Amino acid sequence: MLGIHFLGNGNISLDEMPTPKPSGTNVVVKIKAAGICGTDKHPLMEHGQATVPGHENAGVVVAVDKPNRVKVGDRVAVNCHITCHACRYCLEGNLFFCDSLEVTGYEWDGGFAEYLLVPEANLHPLPDDLTFDTGALMVDVLGTAYSGVKKAKILPGDQVAVWGAGPIGLEAALTAKTLGARVAVLDMAPYRLEMARKLAPELVLDAGDPKLAEQVMDWTNGYGLDIAYECVGSEKAALQALPLLKRMGTLGLIGVGHTLTVDYWDLIQRQIKLYASRNFNTFEYAEMVALIQRGMDVNQVVTHHFQLKDAEAAFALFKTGECGKIVFTENE
Ligand SMILES: [Zn+2]
Ligand SMILES: [Zn+2]
Repeated sequence: MLGIHFLGNGNISLDEMPTPKPSGTNVVVKIKAAGICGTDKHPLMEHGQATVPGHENAGVVVAVDKPNRVKVGDRVAVNCHITCHACRYCLEGNLFFCDSLEVTGYEWDGGFAEYLLVPEANLHPLPDDLTFDTGALMVDVLGTAYSGVKKAKILPGDQVAVWGAGPIGLEAALTAKTLGARVAVLDMAPYRLEMARKLAPELVLDAGDPKLAEQVMDWTNGYGLDIAYECVGSEKAALQALPLLKRMGTLGLIGVGHTLTVDYWDLIQRQIKLYASRNFNTFEYAEMVALIQRGMDVNQVVTHHFQLKDAEAAFALFKTGECGKIVFTENE
């Protein structure tokens, strides 16, 4: 089969490699959709990676050995977290906290290949009326956004703003809108602002506009936001959002950042809630399916499809940033 490797310094190779064989409860999935993720940028641009990358995958089970649950022909979305399934965190559905965590596309070969070997426990059933793209979105970008938005205990009518109109920010905005909130989206890149407008939130704002605070305060009748969702992973964005929250407002950190220095006194005075969110809980998969089946159009964030054989072109586009989610499909 064909599979991609990251060589480092922005280079990739498309290699002929052995097709995996099923063994025990590890099954083989034929990849139908595999999303390129922002986190792929580091191994791609820096040090390369020995395993096949790709952790946002959906496809069809094509070979099994001794499965308990799945069968050949099942449509599935692949949870990338390979875990013990016995510890407290696994039983709670928060697989990414498991001490024996290994990840498809990092420790294990991932989905930028024609086939994927994966424990059957990692497979979520993908209903027939959901596309493979949707499956790949649910297990990472949508899952992260959905779980992050939900944790703020969002209510219909809440005025919320999402910092960052990349795939996660856009899914967060869409989720908040679907849950009944009034939504503003902020970014600085023209391409991303244009993408945000297509989701038709109430407001699309340029985060670099010197009148930003005024615009947000006008929109909220001078009170400020109920909730701000930071989906950039930038301290600057988080610190821009905090003063725009209303008293008792909430800041959710969904983007992956590193440091954040906050004004403790201000948090106390205004009784601000601050939380961080990571990935999604496995029990939330069914919730996402339900929202999508009721019309939430999550595939809007996908802007480009490439066949695996055109991987060079896909990553060239990815490096420009002039794209939403890029998804690999099978070779025809
Ligand atoms: Zn990802
Ligand atoms: Zn565990």
